[in-house]
Amino acid sequence: MTLRAHTPIAELDLAERGVDSSMRIRRALVAAETTLHLIERTAHIGTYNLDIVTGKRTWSDELYRILGVPVGSPIDSTSYVRRVHPDDLAAILALREALHNGVGFSREHRIVLDDGTERWMETNMQPVVDAHGAVVWLFGTGVDITTRKVAELELAFLAHHDALTGLPNRTLLAETLAAALTAAGSSGRQVAVIYVDLDDLKRINDTYGHAEGDRVIRRCAQCLTACMRAGDVVARVGGDEFVVILADMESNAEATRAVQRMRAALAEPMSIGTVTMRLRASFGISCFPADGDSADQLIRYADLAMYHAKNTQRGEVAYFEPSLRDAAVDRLRLEHELGNAIANGELVLHYQPIIDARTKRIGGVEALVRWPNSPNGDTSPESFIPLAEETGLIVPLGAFVLREATRAIAELQRTARPELRLAVNLSLRQLSDDALPATVEAALARAGMPPNLLDLEITETYLVSDPARAAAQLGRLTRLGIRIAVDNFGTGYSALTFVRQFPAHLLKLDRWFVAEIERSEASRTIAAAIIDLACKLGMRSVAEGVETAAQHRLLDELGCDAFQGFYYAPPMTAGDLRDYLASERRVA
Ligand code: C2E
Ligand code: MG
Repeated sequence: MTLRAHTPIAELDLAERGVDSSMRIRRALVAAETTLHLIERTAHIGTYNLDIVTGKRTWSDELYRILGVPVGSPIDSTSYVRRVHPDDLAAILALREALHNGVGFSREHRIVLDDGTERWMETNMQPVVDAHGAVVWLFGTGVDITTRKVAELELAFLAHHDALTGLPNRTLLAETLAAALTAAGSSGRQVAVIYVDLDDLKRINDTYGHAEGDRVIRRCAQCLTACMRAGDVVARVGGDEFVVILADMESNAEATRAVQRMRAALAEPMSIGTVTMRLRASFGISCFPADGDSADQLIRYADLAMYHAKNTQRGEVAYFEPSLRDAAVDRLRLEHELGNAIANGELVLHYQPIIDARTKRIGGVEALVRWPNSPNGDTSPESFIPLAEETGLIVPLGAFVLREATRAIAELQRTARPELRLAVNLSLRQLSDDALPATVEAALARAGMPPNLLDLEITETYLVSDPARAAAQLGRLTRLGIRIAVDNFGTGYSALTFVRQFPAHLLKLDRWFVAEIERSEASRTIAAAIIDLACKLGMRSVAEGVETAAQHRLLDELGCDAFQGFYYAPPMTAGDLRDYLASERRVA
């Protein structure tokens, strides 16, 4: 925009009108000036004028205030540029040069006041030209935008940093890594990406609350940062996940050494809640140029390596290998296909008889899921239940099992065995699904099965992350008349706690003890103790995996209430179960 010079209104009016009107105009002018001052003051806008012809330079009061100069002090051509931040000075001088040649500008920049305070200012300058196009006057505004700018910078910081630790976040990590790769590409150096995953954060959060968990994360951030060399970067990319970039390495032995330093720093004792703990983490490393050349790829590969380290042994370190990528691709495919199999009703249920010790006849059956068309040819639940648990697919899978098993067994109850019990395995992940009681009730109602003929089996191998919630869910189910069985009892590391915390009715003795019962005195003693414990707690005991007559005899002598295993019958389809029940003989 170019302004055209004209005769100031006030002068015109004074020349053309009489004194009275000049007084009126003068008053109006004073009023207008006062209004202008107020606007300038309120909006933090200062104005600047330079008459090129006379060399007269004026600042409005507000511009003095913005630039931290006493109002009315003498000013010269350096008064403004002297206060421009050194980093912005070159740009401002270039723009000023252009201004004198008739090109206006608008620019945000910092100024440094005489007392050293930094402020942000938006300077807007326009030349005013005469009829011949010559610059005769410069007019400008200076706006104090410090408040807005600080907020903007904070926002920009937050968009690139993690609020809890102040470390770079995933976005900034990707940008920094990309820059490090470009630099390493030209210098011929290596870059390592180290994925760090804290091992026990979930447990700490669940046990001591999120404030304590946050403290642990901050401490971890400090430990990792303290281990870095200048130029390395630590970023936080998830709840308990950090990524470290070693930007300029000679060999990947440096990455191994960095992991050793980080592990040692984390292992310094720290008081958490009521205990003193040593933090542990799993580490995965990928390297440029050996493993890949893009930031995204290297971060993913380091993550895969960390995942591998965590699964093989917590607190360990693993380097990325292509086989890990292939396994991840297979896993993703399997997950996708399992999701389809559940949705398309391709899973089938087998039922394994459970023999009642008193009647020596089949008292119930356990539903066991199979995947006949599994892409890797393995139909066993052990090959896909862990995947379903990890991915959350266990919830629809479990709902299918409940629906289908209650339907099939209710039919047998109506047509063949009214008292036949059904046992269904539940994964702990299903227990944390609030909809579980409703899903169970709906399945029973739809099938027309009495709730007191249903047992839900829960394995105690895993640590229950929210025992109060799980107990509440189980309580709702037991109030309906459903029984709870503790599956694989004796194999987990919190067996007795589990029994104390949860309202269980049955203990299923793990097949590992049964397999050893003939040749191991210790297994026999443990089996006897578990059967005794169940009896004393008013619970029923069930032995799993009985394969021989001798095992059956020993367990029977120990007073076990029920038996399950290949010795009696393998898992079978619902159709085979119907035939089997029809031709059932009592177990000797
Ligand atoms: P589990 O609940 O302990 O089930 C018993 C497992 O022992 C079954 O394996 C069964 O086939 C096997 N078995 C039965 N008798 C014998 C025997 O005499 N000797 C030996 N060696 N094994 C015997 P399966 O069907 O492969 O199931 C494995 C596990 O998968 C089950 O262990 C259960 O934890 C889980 N699972 C099965 N179906 C489901 C399901 O619908 N939902 C959930 N969440 N888990 C399931
Ligand atoms: Mg079971």
